[in-house]
Amino acid sequence: MSGQVALVTGGSRGIGRAIALELARRGAAVAVNYVQHDQAAQAVVAEIEALGRRAIAIQADVGDFAQAARLVKETIRTLGGLDILVNNAGIVRDALLLRLREDDWDAVLRVNLKGVYNVTKAAVRPMMRQRHGRIINISSVSGLMGPAGQANYAASKAGVIGLTKSLARELGGRGITVNAVAPGFIPTELTAALEDDFRAQLKQQIPLGRFGTAEDVAHTVAFLASEEASYITGIVLPVDGGLSM
Ligand code: NAP
Repeated sequence: MSGQVALVTGGSRGIGRAIALELARRGAAVAVNYVQHDQAAQAVVAEIEALGRRAIAIQADVGDFAQAARLVKETIRTLGGLDILVNNAGIVRDALLLRLREDDWDAVLRVNLKGVYNVTKAAVRPMMRQRHGRIINISSVSGLMGPAGQANYAASKAGVIGLTKSLARELGGRGITVNAVAPGFIPTELTAALEDDFRAQLKQQIPLGRFGTAEDVAHTVAFLASEEASYITGIVLPVDGGLSM
């Protein structure tokens, strides 16, 4: 991936951080987007620079259309292009429907689904011009399975799958592939609030008998971003130890 530029939304922590580092290890310059945790983003930039690659941290709320456009513009201006877009930023606000407040519904759909639209909309024109691009959207097994207590999150992640397939059809002729990755349970700050007995129950349902790691997801994303994956588009690839099959 040397000479290529990647933008990873939500690259400051968890899965996004692992993706940013893996793409850098494979040679890409990386824009590390974050919304709040400036120091965490700067630390990822320092790790990437220590690998001998260029990197920049860019604060932007992907749920905001204008900020998403600025994020893409700044990436291209500072790193010289955009070849790989990883729409990873995401949040959870879990509750059973009877307790699910309207603002929890709106917040999750705004970041997880509209955020993907916002950033992709800004990124697609430059990718079309260069007739090459890789877009990888981080969905979730929740979008495939629909767990109880995650109506907002599952709807957002199922939405990402529909969006991925439509864009794969729209952009295939321009040399741009669009794929989704659906991680299973990956211990990060996003999943830190889950109770221990729920975790134990969940683990029993995973054929491979363990939770995933952020690196498990990062390796899959890096493959889909690579030249080797150039004939793959419109797929949803679970990285879940067999949980969703
Ligand atoms: P995480 O550790 O909570 O990290 C979330 C990242 O998203 C942070 O970098 C955060 O930035 C960023 N972010 C949040 N809201 C944002 C916004 N409005 N604009 C820009 N960036 C924003 O989460 P994670 O577990 O790594 O999850 C990453 C992705 O994987 C999400 O899309 C999640 O839904 C998906 N996923 C996770 C799991 C899992 O088990 N962990 C499973 C399936 C799918 P700050 O550091 O600035 O807050």
